[in-house]
Amino acid sequence: MQYCSRCLYPANHPLNITFDSEGVCSGCRVHEEKDALDWTQRREILKALTRSYRNRSGSGYDCIVPVSGARDSYFIVHTVRKELGLNPLLVSYNKHYNTRRGHRNLAYLRTLFDLDIYTQVINPQTVKKITRETLRLRGSLYWHVLAGQTVWPVQVAARHKIPLIIWGHHQGLDQVGMFSHTDEVEMSRKYRKEHDLMGLEAEDLLAESDVLTEADLQAYFYPHDKELANVGVRGIYLGNYIRWDTKLQHEDMIERYGYETAPQQRTFDTYNDVDCLHYSGLHDHLKFLKVGYGKVSDHASREIRFGRLTREEGISLVRAYQNKTPADLEPFLKWSGLREDEFYGLVNQHRDPRVWSRDADGQWSLKQSVVGAPIPENAKSVKLAQQGECDFRITPSRAPGVREDEYVLIDRGYVDEFPASS
Ligand SMILES: [Zn+2]
Repeated sequence: MQYCSRCLYPANHPLNITFDSEGVCSGCRVHEEKDALDWTQRREILKALTRSYRNRSGSGYDCIVPVSGARDSYFIVHTVRKELGLNPLLVSYNKHYNTRRGHRNLAYLRTLFDLDIYTQVINPQTVKKITRETLRLRGSLYWHVLAGQTVWPVQVAARHKIPLIIWGHHQGLDQVGMFSHTDEVEMSRKYRKEHDLMGLEAEDLLAESDVLTEADLQAYFYPHDKELANVGVRGIYLGNYIRWDTKLQHEDMIERYGYETAPQQRTFDTYNDVDCLHYSGLHDHLKFLKVGYGKVSDHASREIRFGRLTREEGISLVRAYQNKTPADLEPFLKWSGLREDEFYGLVNQHRDPRVWSRDADGQWSLKQSVVGAPIPENAKSVKLAQQGECDFRITPSRAPGVREDEYVLIDRGYVDEFPASS
């Protein structure tokens, strides 16, 4: 297995990665644009682009902003509201694996910015049925979240004739350099199907499953091209116009608005996924069982590219986190109605044979990992200058003493009182 000579990404990255003559991956090369592009000028492009959408929908909303209780939501809303001066309609897909902290973050976000929100909550029985099938077909317990988060904003845009959707950063650009920032790539159904949904749109799921019906999947169908064209729906990514640095952005949001962070089971990034019980636990463990690395490799690679970690420090973090057994298996089994052996039976079908092997007794072992892989030839010459620390903060809870280790499907969406600090 080839590993990038600068970051920690392997050749089997599911979004496809390429390496140049120095062994540096496409993601690292596109990341170099963050220090090369004129971001003041790019911000002006963004302002001009969004200006033309002000007061255009006739609904009182200038744009749609998809949000959750974590993952740059505060930064995106802050930018849209305070910098671009737009009035957004927030939309949120209820991921069902919510933590109370995530609900609190979202409730404070709405309240602080005084915004309306459309939340979609699918019937839990349907979500369970779908999730058992996506575990079987793709080894994924997160398909419904990915599908819902990427389609609900588009449905609302079409239905309420609000043409502009504003997303954070583009994952394919950020992780593997699929596009340059200057391509100004926009949201597409094709990318959603091929990458976000692992090739499995609702239509495909319906065709491949004997138990799911069209009614079960109704919420997840992408609107028709014609419907989108009539409204002129487009989705832009702020990361193409703003020098995207999720760590600094979250720290700014902690200072300004008291965004809550929390320790995560399988990674050192305490900012991005605090709203989900499984994202940095069981869901990430499944990623590791499939492709041989977890979110800690994503986060360490990102921090290496920013010069806040050395490659060696990144590998130490991977060593510390990637083999951790997640503590959230039991609640998931209880929720899904699967036995442990059934669950792992489904997941084991999806292990990448390039990194995993199985012995005669049925025991799996990781045969390829960046931990223990030989140091790439060019590692020294492509090393970046170190700048800044890689410390992730833990902020105090706004509800100390409240349990954070169980699902909360629905919670209060608004906060009555909070200190007038903003
Ligand atoms: Zn790289």
